Amino acid sequence: MIDAKKTIEMLQAIVKKIESEKDFLTELDNAIGDGDHGINLSRGFQKVAEKLPEWEGQDIGAIFKGVGTQLVSTVGGASGPLYGTAFMKAGNACKGKMEISGEDFAAALEAAIGGIKMRGKSTEGEKTMLDALCPAHKALTEALAGGKELKEALADAVEAAAKGVEYTKTIIATKGRASYLGERSIGHQDPGATSSLFLLQAMQETL
Ligand code: ADP
Ligand code: MG
Repeated sequence: MIDAKKTIEMLQAIVKKIESEKDFLTELDNAIGDGDHGINLSRGFQKVAEKLPEWEGQDIGAIFKGVGTQLVSTVGGASGPLYGTAFMKAGNACKGKMEISGEDFAAALEAAIGGIKMRGKSTEGEKTMLDALCPAHKALTEALAGGKELKEALADAVEAAAKGVEYTKTIIATKGRASYLGERSIGHQDPGATSSLFLLQAMQETL
């Protein structure tokens, strides 16, 4: 179970993680994009950090929705609307809930992925955040179905996301700025897949 208080703690951990990986994410985006991914996410999650005290006592759906709204309104670039939509969809999936089960969390992740696919007109295998998030969701669902606790199941999801990030090194980008590079995008890991891994890692470590 994750309650609303834990959700706030997860977001605090995400804010911290993004701050500490800001330069690394920007470096990755320098190689195959325009070098702003870390800066973009840092700007967005700093805004989220400012709002966290206001969200105390609210339900998980409202908190995630708030995160999405902040990201959409403060982050430029592709990742703002994509992560923003993801959190808004996760918020819808957790509407009115003061605590969520592992299955609820998996459903929220599925909704988030659906939002990214819709907004980005993208799918797995295009060298984007989806290449971390989709395998993570699959691993999470399987682990929960196999009877694992959320903490362990989310650890499996993190492991799958890390493999997904490695996989992005081997494929050509067909969405986003990296797609302009064509074959030259091979060999580089996707910044968005990497930040998705960091978000999942930060959440897992909070449990
Ligand atoms: P921008 O590309 O506008 O500079 P960012 O650098 O913040 O935005 O984010 C780049 C990341 O966004 C990419 O690494 C990729 O993971 C993700 N991305 C870009 N376009 C899409 C898309 N259509 N669908 C899913 N993810 C995408
Ligand atoms: Mg960029």
